[in-house]
Parts: sequence; C-alpha cells; structure tokens
Amino acid sequence: MMATTHALIGMAIALPAAYALPELAPVVLLAGLVGGLFPDLDLYAGHRRTLHYPVYFPVVAAIALAVAALAPEPVTVGVATFLLAAAVHSVMDAFGGGLEMRPWLETADRAVYDHYRRRWIAPKRGVRYDGAPEDLLLACVVAVPLLLVLEGALLELVVALVVVSAGYALVRKRLVGIAVWMVSRLPATIRAQLPSRYHEG
Ligand SMILES: [Zn+2]
Repeated sequence: MMATTHALIGMAIALPAAYALPELAPVVLLAGLVGGLFPDLDLYAGHRRTLHYPVYFPVVAAIALAVAALAPEPVTVGVATFLLAAAVHSVMDAFGGGLEMRPWLETADRAVYDHYRRRWIAPKRGVRYDGAPEDLLLACVVAVPLLLVLEGALLELVVALVVVSAGYALVRKRLVGIAVWMVSRLPATIRAQLPSRYHEG
C-alpha cells in the first residue's frame, strides 16, 4: 500500500480517540499519521523488515492502549495511537503486493517479515501493489470520515494526502522505468548501496 494510504489509515484509527478526548485531538491525529508512516522509513534499509513488526507492534500497542486507558495523558494516548497505527501498517502490508520493483507481475513471495517466526509472510495481494486502483480506493474511503470531521490545517493535510495518492496511482507504473533509468546512471559505488530490487531492468 502507498505510504499515503497508511498515513490516512493511521489518522482514521486516531479519530475515535480524538473524538473522545477533544483536548488531545491534534496530538492523537498526528501520532496516528506518524505511526502510519513510520514503518516505511526502512524503505532503503531492509524494507518491510527493519521497522515492520506484524507481531510485536500489535502486542506492544495492546499494552500501550491499556496504559492509555488507565492514564489518558497526552504522552500515553499519543504513544498508544502511534504504536497502533504502526501495528496496523505492519499487518496490512501482508495483504498488499510483494517486495519487488514491479509488484503487479506477482513474482515475489515476500510481503513483510515476521520477526517472531523468523520468516517472511507471503503477499496476499488484496491490494495488488502500492498505487493500484484498489489502493487509491482504500485511501479515498478511509479519508471520508476524516474529511467530514476535521477542519483547518488537519483537513488540508488530508486533502493533500488524497491528492498525492491520486497522483502517485496515476504514474505508478511509469515511475519504475524512470527509477531504473536514474539508477543505471549512478556511479557503481552508489548503485551497490541500493536495495537489490533497483538492480533489475
Ligand atoms: Zn510498509
């Protein structure tokens, strides 16, 4: 799934807590946004393994949610929302495409790494690849409650995420050709540092 889809899902997850605790709404919504994005910071360093924890994030998030329920402070609610959004991201990646340059070809058997069982989870391809039409549809559906409830800068942020999602979905397949062309022109020493998926084509 697109990073923007994960960001919107993170914010949508935060919505009930923001509604229940309006004084914490900005903190909670931003924690959901950042938590939804966070796992993909490993894009160039062990993607979907280094910062993706489909088993451990949900466990830690459950503990953090219990703590937040007992002591609803900005820090506890923010941390719990962040962890929950990161957990949902990590689990949802198993329902997306594989780790390959052109995931629509469905050749890869790795979606996200399960540190607990020490093995890769195979892609279930409910969303075939990031930027697929069904990915954009998911982003739009998740954005609806946010668009209805939020206002001001947060509303503008959601609109921006939807617009970026649509733009990315539009050019997704063409981006691969551009990325391969750019990588082929990099010095060999830099090329060697990039993940193996960039060396094909
Ligand atoms: Zn991810």
